[in-house]
Amino acid sequence: MEKYDLVVAGAGGGLVGAIKAAQLGAKVLLIDASPDFINTCNTSMTSGMFPASGTRWQKESGVIDSPENFVSDINKKTKNQADPVATKALTDVSVELVEWMADSLGVPWELVTDFHYPGHSVDRCLSVPGRMGQLVLGPIWKEATSKNLFEFRSNTRLVDVVIEDDQVVAACVQNSAGVVEEIKTSNLLMATNGYGANQKLLLEHNTEISYVYYHGSKYSKGEALQIGIKHGAAFGYLDSYQGHAAISSHAQTLVGWTTIMQGGFIVNLDGSRFGDESAGYSEYAAILNEEKGNAGWIIIDKEIDAGSMLFKEYEITAASGAVIWADTVEELAKLISVPESNLVSEFNNANAVINGEATDRFGREVFEKSLKAPFGAIKVRPALFHTQGGLQVTQNAEVIKESGAVIRGLFAAGGAAVGISGHGSDGYLAGNGLLSAFGFSYIAAKEIGDRIKS
Ligand SMILES: Cc1cc2nc3c(=O)[nH]c(=O)nc-3n(C[C@H](O)[C@H](O)[C@H](O)COP(=O)(O)OP(=O)(O)OC[C@H]3O[C@@H](n4cnc5c(N)ncnc54)[C@H](O)[C@@H]3O)c2cc1C
Repeated sequence: MEKYDLVVAGAGGGLVGAIKAAQLGAKVLLIDASPDFINTCNTSMTSGMFPASGTRWQKESGVIDSPENFVSDINKKTKNQADPVATKALTDVSVELVEWMADSLGVPWELVTDFHYPGHSVDRCLSVPGRMGQLVLGPIWKEATSKNLFEFRSNTRLVDVVIEDDQVVAACVQNSAGVVEEIKTSNLLMATNGYGANQKLLLEHNTEISYVYYHGSKYSKGEALQIGIKHGAAFGYLDSYQGHAAISSHAQTLVGWTTIMQGGFIVNLDGSRFGDESAGYSEYAAILNEEKGNAGWIIIDKEIDAGSMLFKEYEITAASGAVIWADTVEELAKLISVPESNLVSEFNNANAVINGEATDRFGREVFEKSLKAPFGAIKVRPALFHTQGGLQVTQNAEVIKESGAVIRGLFAAGGAAVGISGHGSDGYLAGNGLLSAFGFSYIAAKEIGDRIKS
């Protein structure tokens, strides 16, 4: 039977692992449970925000940054709870990774400077024109297929791994007809994401968000986590997740936090604000979920609307008719059925903070602008985007057992591995998801390449 140097399960972040390992001379098989991963994996649903510290795009824009600076931001946001091994490995590799993706795979990165993501002390998020994950995956997939870098099987699930004396010897995969096959390999990269689509696991590990609408990939069933645990792997941070408080109730699309970070604010169904929106969109999901009707309204103006159009998904949201416009605050209150006095009072509060006449009762330090008529309102609901905890790995992305021993040849990345967001939802910094998905896949591939060489 054919033997591979590497089987990669999961073609989101795992795709770059398959490419890099193949470039380094490995014989690779990539499998994915979905028939159409480019449109169904979590990576495809993203805004393509990818953080890297000290890149050439930052230098061109005069932004001074370093991996140490990035680590410091992660530690601040997670209150020093982030997994230190993962944090160091991923922040160290970030620049090499994004520059390789640009130079070798043709990803057209641009530095995002039009608004500042909460928690990043400098602008370090890259994305592509249109700011959609599919537009990141597209060029990568084209590069891989045009060069015939590896074999690929869709509709194929990883169901188990065969390990002998702490060394991977085979991957067990199941095709769409239910037939299970043992594929010989000495390395398996599990990049099958977390367990956001597995209600049972959510109820076990993440009750805070388990009752909230899930907006990620339906294939994220937590299979890597379960396979790892079955073979004695250590795991951690299972309570960690990325939430989001800005899914359009009308279109079920991502409105995006750019609306807030350009000066918008969120009111509840009574027309009142209920927290500091600038803390972060992830933690705001659970906060919004506590409000009456589990919903709210993002309040914006035309300038914010225009600025948000850089995000294709916002454009789609707006085109769906999700934004309700009015010439006055009073008219807007009527159109969205909230008490006029409450909404007027929130506009007055924001303006008073901007003019230095008052401090915000929730501690929001900056309202980036005074909203100008006409005013817009977008009804939003909270969502779970993906889980962040998973299998404990070394700095080379190799899975560690409860005993501390390494399972040689078993690698985990992205939602399958521990992330760098600490516990709960408030440690999530924009881009932590893709960095751990692509970063650990790339690191694993390089390690496998080195082993093949030696
Ligand atoms: C709307 C939205 C916007 C987001 N925006 C951002 C952003 O801008 N930046 C950011 O960093 N993060 C963002 N995230 C988070 C991000 O999506 C995830 O952190 C990241 O995509 C996870 O990558 P992954 O490779 O682990 O998983 P995925 O991209 O989901 O890839 C996993 C693949 O594995 C396959 N699979 C699953 N189980 C199996 C199995 N048993 N066998 C074989 N294949 C399997 C799936 O079909 C899938 O194709 C966003 C999330 C959402 C929902």
